[in-house]
Amino acid sequence: MKKILFFVNWIISLGMNAQWSNSQEAKVQDILSQMNIEEKVGQMTQINLDVICEGEIYKLVEPHHIDPDKLKEAIEKYHVGSILNCGGHAYPIAQWHEIISGIHQATLAYQQKHTYESKFVPVLYGIDAIHGANYIMGGTLFPQQLGQAATFNPALVQEAARITAYETRAAGIPWNFSPVLDVGRVPTWSRFFETYGEDPYLCSVLGKSCIKGYQGMFGKDNNGEVDEFHVAACMKHFLGYSGARTGKDRTPAYISDIQLKEIYRPSFQAAIDEGALTVMINSGEINGIPVHANPKILIELLRKEMGFQGMAVTDWEDVIKLVNIHHVAENLKDAVALAVNAGIDMCMVPNDYNFTNLLIELVKEGRVSEARLDESVYRILKLKVQLDLFDNPVPFEKNTYPEKMSEQFQQTAVKTAEESITLLENKKDKKGSLPWNNNVNVCVVGNAANQLIYQNGAWSRTWQGTDTIWNDPARLTVFSAIKAQNKGETICLLNQWTETAAKKAKRAVKKSDVILVCLGEKPSTEKPGDIDDLNWDKNERQTIKWALSTGKPVVLVMFENRPRLVNDWVDRCAAVVMAYQPGEWGNIALTNILFGKTNPSGKLPFTYPRYNQSLLTYDHKHSEELDTNFGNRAYNPQWPFGHGLSYSDLTYQNLAITEVKTANGNRKWSVNVEVKNNSNLDAKESVLVYKHDRVASITPHVKKLIDFDKELVKANSVAKYSFEIDETDLMFVGANGQMILEPGVWDIYVGNLSSTIEIKP
Ligand code: BGC
Repeated sequence: MKKILFFVNWIISLGMNAQWSNSQEAKVQDILSQMNIEEKVGQMTQINLDVICEGEIYKLVEPHHIDPDKLKEAIEKYHVGSILNCGGHAYPIAQWHEIISGIHQATLAYQQKHTYESKFVPVLYGIDAIHGANYIMGGTLFPQQLGQAATFNPALVQEAARITAYETRAAGIPWNFSPVLDVGRVPTWSRFFETYGEDPYLCSVLGKSCIKGYQGMFGKDNNGEVDEFHVAACMKHFLGYSGARTGKDRTPAYISDIQLKEIYRPSFQAAIDEGALTVMINSGEINGIPVHANPKILIELLRKEMGFQGMAVTDWEDVIKLVNIHHVAENLKDAVALAVNAGIDMCMVPNDYNFTNLLIELVKEGRVSEARLDESVYRILKLKVQLDLFDNPVPFEKNTYPEKMSEQFQQTAVKTAEESITLLENKKDKKGSLPWNNNVNVCVVGNAANQLIYQNGAWSRTWQGTDTIWNDPARLTVFSAIKAQNKGETICLLNQWTETAAKKAKRAVKKSDVILVCLGEKPSTEKPGDIDDLNWDKNERQTIKWALSTGKPVVLVMFENRPRLVNDWVDRCAAVVMAYQPGEWGNIALTNILFGKTNPSGKLPFTYPRYNQSLLTYDHKHSEELDTNFGNRAYNPQWPFGHGLSYSDLTYQNLAITEVKTANGNRKWSVNVEVKNNSNLDAKESVLVYKHDRVASITPHVKKLIDFDKELVKANSVAKYSFEIDETDLMFVGANGQMILEPGVWDIYVGNLSSTIEIKP
């Protein structure tokens, strides 16, 4: 099953290199050979758009326009290689064109002043288009990565990424700081929603699909270039960023070699093998060393062991942070030397030219070698050639990108949200349980009931996504989406909790058959998203308690950055739905599910905790299950990884594992299982295959995901699923840090069924 074999990777990477032509290589070498130190350092400098716009940094003059003098300084004096971000909020596509064309014109003007044509180097623009083209007004928004993971559908993830790339390119931007390949092991982390969840295998499979969608068939069919409908992906944040002990953003992680290899590395390795062109570095520290200053990670691991040949960019201000946050450098100059010598290629400075000036000094003083610069600048120039920026820097001037923001794209966003939304509880015999008929009197309450920001989350038109003025008024909220489908009465109350409003609402709710409580976590990311408590905020707790106190059936829908605790209420709810942050098309998807137009098929890509202090992942160790009575009930999450209900009654049957003969004597097994749909509704079911090593020299996990597949299971019929397991699936990281295979017995779990595989000594 594992397509991630080293041998295969090696073949693929040979193929990729072969597509990089001699003339392209010659072009890069030629430009590099003509560059002076200042120009090389310029290429390694990435500045924020604010630096070249009218107004002050973070206080630009509205509407934002380029300041020609500042741009000229950036291009002609500092030779900047890259510019990023938006000046604080999304722009219409025409404004992006003005910015990108403006930058291009400035580079051309500079070129004309010189005789050497080959010194023309286009500026590489980069943006965070992380759940759709979120910094383009009207750009199609998809569920955040965590929701996408819940689809367990790699094809959908790839298509969402393809659409995101298309719209990003339509705006003129060829580089996307996505996907997040950090594995969501700590549910308190403010960027949990940006991950593909807690499982390294799931993160690897979906990360690969995302890279394919962003970059197209780069490296396989595209002759070494990313075409004008795709973008360079940026795997981030290499590596271990999500493993912070406290769960607070950018705080220390303590990660053993085994964990690093087993948990945090596979998703990056899979993306590298898929041809990911760039990587962004983890802002935090691992075992006391900031990653931006650690050549063991940036050179030994990333380059030598994992074989990454692309370009490595720092995260925001991370060289500065080596001085004022991490305290490993006395001054900025030392920090620049530390980071560049540790292996970064480009510095997201991003708000001044100190990095540029200091790096020039460092090279002149011999503290950073010119050869070190050449290595990085080569990678940067190569990337620009791969993106065809020299020959086709402003494709939107010829191509109108007619499919952008099309209904077809929006339908894909609805479909992705539909497959992500996860039915966590449904008490079929209780009034109000799902699905409803569309003639129900429903009262929609809660902060997220009529407010889009909770559906979109952070990175939606603005960084934190909290500013409601950027919501598109044409998009449906939960309330308006329900109203549009429901023939019964739909009312909306209590969007902001107050005692008085609650009292009034008790009277208003009398006629309702059911209360839909829509709880939304305030959108946030990075530092502003740090929390001290996984419980819902007080107002949200009051809202659900109020709803339950009315005696009406209650259905709870959650829009969350990360799992917030619900243990006190779920037993009293008729149904509980996890909507993640499904994006602005998500309420249509949600409504389709509430009314049974769509059968839910999402599954949790993480373990939903029951208590603040019990944050185990599903692949914990046996010892973590021991409880205070010496039983094994300590692992007691609210809902386990992979949990998700359907409206259909689905049963698993006929699990059969047979050994397959192979020519080379390597062992392989085929795993077959059937899912029976005992209902009149078509269903989609993700079947998850786990292994459990009964005895191993490194304490085994209670189970570990090794494969999954999602198929349509037609009403009243049986769908067959087939998987292949090989020896690599049974390997684990041994005490010597290498992948090893030990003889023994493995349980293979599929749904409620299990069988075994044995390898004799
Ligand atoms: C984030 C990155 C992001 C970058 C550029 C940083 O603060 O950590 O994920 O790509 O900003 O916006």
